[in-house]
Amino acid sequence: MRTRRLFLFCAVALAVSLPIARATGLLERFFPPRARAAAAPPFLGEFALNTFCVITLFDQASYELYEDIFRRIREIEGRMSLFLPGSDVSRVNAAAGIAPVRVHGDVFTVIERAARIAELSGGAFDPSIGPLTALWDIMGPNPGVPSQEEINAVLPLVNWRNIDLDRERRTVFLTAPGMALDLGAIAKGFAADEALAIIRAARLDRAIINLGGDVIMHGARPDRTPWRVGLQTPHADDRTALGIISGWDMTVTTSGVYERYFVYNGARHHHLLSPFDGHPARTGILSTTIVSSGASMDADALSTAVFVLGYERGRALVDSLEGVEAIFVFEDLSVRATAGVDFTLVDGRFRLGE
Ligand code: ADP
Ligand code: MG
Repeated sequence: MRTRRLFLFCAVALAVSLPIARATGLLERFFPPRARAAAAPPFLGEFALNTFCVITLFDQASYELYEDIFRRIREIEGRMSLFLPGSDVSRVNAAAGIAPVRVHGDVFTVIERAARIAELSGGAFDPSIGPLTALWDIMGPNPGVPSQEEINAVLPLVNWRNIDLDRERRTVFLTAPGMALDLGAIAKGFAADEALAIIRAARLDRAIINLGGDVIMHGARPDRTPWRVGLQTPHADDRTALGIISGWDMTVTTSGVYERYFVYNGARHHHLLSPFDGHPARTGILSTTIVSSGASMDADALSTAVFVLGYERGRALVDSLEGVEAIFVFEDLSVRATAGVDFTLVDGRFRLGE
């Protein structure tokens, strides 16, 4: 009877004191966050950068780390978004033809890198594609096929050579009125690299960063076997795997016709635009994937560049770069992968070329 009463007392005392301890932070004092880290889920997702971002920290997850990573991703979005009027990119665009604008180091880094890849790709990738993406508005509320006159009017504005960068002052100047930056093809890659930097600083053995299909596989799997990344079949509404990429410490980025597009008069128009003729690039390719041991920022921009360049010139660019591999999926359902990528085709509708 006595023990029973004691038990009851203890139970009630616990029920009352636990919420108080939690509210006053006492719990944190006696059970510091590190000790409770195991309670964090193995992965966490959030909508950012216009896509769904999933971070997987496996058994080493902690809420603090997830929060650090997502805060950094949102910070990058806040600086590079075209849709937030206060972002650095929006301010640069608003001052086109008027004045240089001082930007954050993140933004300067990305624009500088974007200009380098624009040069490497002969302008197939161009961060000043803004006036063209605005005209087509493929991602926006009013997508439509512009007239040739409209396209001709904005084409001269798309020219990365007219982005004036001042390293000392950290300013960006779009020299012609009407010019506009669009970092949509590179910002996710930069955000992925920055997420990795946080994970590395925390000394985690393994992690997967997936920002809407731009993926970084970090470290080793628990059983020390290679990571396996599923490559999505480039058919709309079909989420099955086309094939599997295996490897260590790699970044995988894809640009495809199937992610963002609209249908007009029965024809499909996708979001990868040719700066040369102002239309969605038509090169017989459904998707290009870059597999790289280098920065995700570079891989992200390169996948767009290679898509716009087409197979011959795109492959020549990939072959000229150290540690960069590619997988091309064609409209005729053939697939080609460069020699350095470990790729296994699983979708029987496709066939592997040489
Ligand atoms: P996703 O955003 O689907 O991952 P990409 O990384 O290839 O695909 O980026 C596509 C985005 O890049 C477009 O939505 C547009 O904002 C921008 N873009 C389109 N064409 C080009 C181009 N030729 N050069 C640079 N950026 C481009
Ligand atoms: Mg990209």
